[in-house]
Amino acid sequence: MVRYLPRSAWRARPPNGGPGTLTPSRVQGAVIHWPGTGTTTGIHSQAAVASALRGWQKFHMDDRGWSDIAYQVAVDQAGRAWALRGLRVQSGANGNADLNERYGAILLVLVTGEQPTAAMKATTRGVIADFRRIFPRGTAIRPHSAVRPDGTDCPGPAARAAIARGDFTPTSEDVMTPAQMQELKNFIEARSQAYALWVHKALRRDLSAVVQAYALDIKKYEAQTDAADAQRAAVAVWAMAPDDFDPKPTPEPGSEPDPETEPYLLLPDPDPMPTVATTAEAAPDTAPEESAPDAEPDADGSAPADTAPVAAGQPESGADPEPNPAPQQ
Ligand SMILES: [Zn+2]
Repeated sequence: MVRYLPRSAWRARPPNGGPGTLTPSRVQGAVIHWPGTGTTTGIHSQAAVASALRGWQKFHMDDRGWSDIAYQVAVDQAGRAWALRGLRVQSGANGNADLNERYGAILLVLVTGEQPTAAMKATTRGVIADFRRIFPRGTAIRPHSAVRPDGTDCPGPAARAAIARGDFTPTSEDVMTPAQMQELKNFIEARSQAYALWVHKALRRDLSAVVQAYALDIKKYEAQTDAADAQRAAVAVWAMAPDDFDPKPTPEPGSEPDPETEPYLLLPDPDPMPTVATTAEAAPDTAPEESAPDAEPDADGSAPADTAPVAAGQPESGADPEPNPAPQQ
């Protein structure tokens, strides 16, 4: 939203009647004008602009017999926006009644030989963004010379070139208010943070299960090979296979490692997330359910069954299992 200097800032006379407001469904866009005075003396200070606006209003009302100054809004080289008729009221500037119903009218306080300043361009983009909020279908930005049937040099070559370059076309910064921009930024940050946290938790859950399953496998293998019976050790490892893995050898009873007494079977605490604590939810996953001595992995065996890398790593039945890799510290 552009801040507009009110009509009182240029000591405007009240309008003498007027054409009323534009019909949004008819509005196609905004037409850009300049004063067309032919002077090369810039109209830059606030007092000079206010005086010029009073002069054009007097000319339009007293000499032309119009209801008010012809334009809706003026923008000067300092980037000030001035309320004239206002964006909702039909202008008298475009050349005929049809054009005045189809287009708004923005006056650039620009004289012959001047280029529009960056401030004038930025404010004009803001004014056009405001115009588009009121008239969503009125997206065209046209120089007066492009629409007036009788021809005109308005708004001069510099403004015409600026229109062609898109210098007056609103960007996302012009369309959004600072509050809306901040709201969008907050939304994106919150969603990104929540997603990062979700990934963090999911990865940690999966990784914990994989590491735990491998470490228990290795401990079982070592325990069994201590008895110099690699075949029985393999049977114990196969006991970790998912429930639906068929055929599954019957596990041999044997002493199982207890993760509570083997701290290296548990994952170290992760690096803390910068904003949200994850240990409260992640901690239960580190308590291994496989610590039951009978190693019956059915009802409570969902954790190893969910760990796809372990299940997928199992060779086909009858093949010799690969030696387990050394546990990573
Ligand atoms: Zn014009």
